[in-house]
This record gives sequence, structure tokens and C-alpha cells, in this order.
Amino acid sequence: MKSVKYRPAQIEIDLSAIRKNIHSLQATLEPQTDIIAVVKANGYGHGDVQVARAALEAGATGLAVALLEEAIKLRESGIAAPILVMGWVAPEFADIANEYGITLTVFQASWLESYYQLSNSTAKLPIHIKLDTGMGRIGIREESELNDFLGKLDQSRINVTGVYTHFATADEEDTDYYEFQVSRFEPLLEIIKQSVKQDLTIHIGNSAVSLRHLNHLYHAVRFGIGMYGLYPSTYLKENRPFDLVPALSLKTQLSHVKRVNPGESISYGTTYKAEKHEWIGTIPIGYGDGIQRRWQNFEVLIDGKRMPLVGRICMDQCMVRLDQAYPIGTEVTFIGQQGKESIYLEEIATHLDTINYEVACLLTDRLPRMYLNEKATE
Ligand SMILES: *Cc1c(COP(=O)(O)O)cnc(C)c1O
Repeated sequence: MKSVKYRPAQIEIDLSAIRKNIHSLQATLEPQTDIIAVVKANGYGHGDVQVARAALEAGATGLAVALLEEAIKLRESGIAAPILVMGWVAPEFADIANEYGITLTVFQASWLESYYQLSNSTAKLPIHIKLDTGMGRIGIREESELNDFLGKLDQSRINVTGVYTHFATADEEDTDYYEFQVSRFEPLLEIIKQSVKQDLTIHIGNSAVSLRHLNHLYHAVRFGIGMYGLYPSTYLKENRPFDLVPALSLKTQLSHVKRVNPGESISYGTTYKAEKHEWIGTIPIGYGDGIQRRWQNFEVLIDGKRMPLVGRICMDQCMVRLDQAYPIGTEVTFIGQQGKESIYLEEIATHLDTINYEVACLLTDRLPRMYLNEKATE
């Protein structure tokens, strides 16, 4: 069945922006540093398969996701590039990952023991070892823990192809904690190199680290937010080495326009009352699409101008105060550029008191994604 789009609302992803951001980063990296494109959580809401393809086309050499499900989806879409699952996967599913040629992240000695008992695979399982140098999330923290892990590592059954860590503060101006994490990484890496005597892909940098070039980046960077044209933090936006190009726009249309009298109220709870005769537009998207209730009082673009969302955001609709009457079907831009004005995820995140990553991830599947510039012409 061909999918039909009835609703006048869509997310547009410009894949040429994804390619451009990869090219811009590449130009600043040492030639031997590869780019692993991070496409977890449906490519930060942008669409994992399409973004992965564009990133690989632009020169990324591998992909990273959080879940085994996400990795399998990429494989089943015909993507053959190396894929790393960065989250914890239960040992009973390791053989499935192996069959799909997917690399797992492993960091527990007990995981290895379970794997040896459960696995029927004759092929060595590819893994990257994760070191927790200060993020406090997953990974090996202590030298003794690492020695225990390496003691249980049967290299006839497990193929360690990489080692990595993740930074907690790389997007902040102050680099003390970042440097503390580097100082914990280096000695642990040396211990691994003593017992795993083969080529390792070592990667420590996320977008913030790769944009800042804080340190020697080893063999690859894990490039997530920056690939989508979004800055890891305000600090990095202000201190960017090059301009990122945002890939995502969210556009819809006015579905209704009316004139209301002074004192008349708008939406649940009557939180908004017109002060004078006002033109109020209705927009057919709401929190069921990821436009959370906290967007109330924020702005959208109509006729190239900013206009405020008034009254509570509903599940499927919300209202905007217009500066004049507009025809039904007039374009409303929530995210992106319209005329000379633009509203990007950083500004929205500030209004919502969160980060751009979260706003992008929360845009739901009810909004159809349209892909622009799927084929590279640049
Ligand atoms: C999500 C994630 C990344 C990507 O981070 P960005 O800030 O989006 O570049 C890199 N590494 C790990 C371990 C992650 O979980």
C-alpha cells in the first residue's frame, strides 16, 4: 500500500545539510580520523536509514546506534557499513548481532561468562570495550575491574576490534573534567593494548570533542548532534569552528482563521483571553506530534513574521494570534526558515528549558518525514 498523506503537516529533512556537516567536519579532522555517524533514536528524530545513507555517501565510514533493534533495522534496509551498538545488549542476543555483522559494546566480566555459556556461534563476536572514565553510565572504571575482564576474555571466541569512552562535559568551556577523563582513559587503554594484540579502533570524541579538537582524537569520532546541524551546547555555538547547517524543518498550515471579540478565551483552561478584537488561527498539530504543552507562548513563523502560540497546546491542535486575517492553508513554520526569519531548535530548547537533542527526539512518528536532496549533486 502506498502511504497517502492527508494531513497538512510534515517534517522536512534536507539531506544535503547532513552531507555538508560531514564534509565540514572532515575538512578539520586529521585525514586518518574516521567519522562514525550516530543515528540512534531514529536519527535524533530525523530518520535513521535516510540519514545513515546520506552520512555514508558523504564519507562517514561507520554508524553507531543505542539498541540492537536500531542496528538490525539499518542492516535490513540494506546498509552494509560497520555498525556499533553503544548500549548494553543482553548476552543471549549476541549471536543475533553476530549474524548481522553488528558490533556490540561489552564491559562486564559476567557478561562474557554468560556469553560463553549461551552462545552457539562458531564465528568470533566483534566487540568494542567501553571504559567509564567519568561519565558514570556504562563501562569499566577501575584497573582491577579491567584486569578481571581481560582475564575472562577468550580471544578465540571474542574479537575485540575497538575501545572507547564518552565525556560528560566536553561541551562546556571549562576543560578540567574533560582532561581528568582523558587522564583516566590513557592508562586503561595501555592495559588493554597489552592483552589485545591486534588493531583497535579507538574513539573518544562525540560532536563537542570533534568540533573543539581538544585532544588527539585517535581513529574515529562519534558524530551525532553536529551532523544534524545542531550545536552540542550554547558554548559550542558561540565558539564554533565552522557553521553547521540544520537539516530539519517542521511545517504545517492554518486550518482555521477567525476573529474573536475582546474578553473571549482560547483553548482548555481559558488561559488566554483576547484583549481586543483579534485574529486567531488554528494549527493542526499538538503534543501528540511532540509539540509539548510548554510551547505555549512560544512563536511560529507565518508570512515571514513571528506570531505567538496562545492558549494551551492541545493533543492535535494549537492556536496562534495573527497580525491580520490569513487564508486557510497559509504556511506555518515551527522549526526552520521562512522568508528572512528563522526559528531553530536551539532557541526552542531554551524556551522549553531543555536541550535541542530532546526537542528533536520528541517529534513523534505521527508527523510524516519528507526527504529533500536525497541524491548528492553538490
Ligand atoms: C549519543 C552518543 C554520542 C553522540 O553524541 P553527540 O553529542 O550527539 O555527538 C556519542 N557517543 C555516545 C556513547 C553516545 O551515547
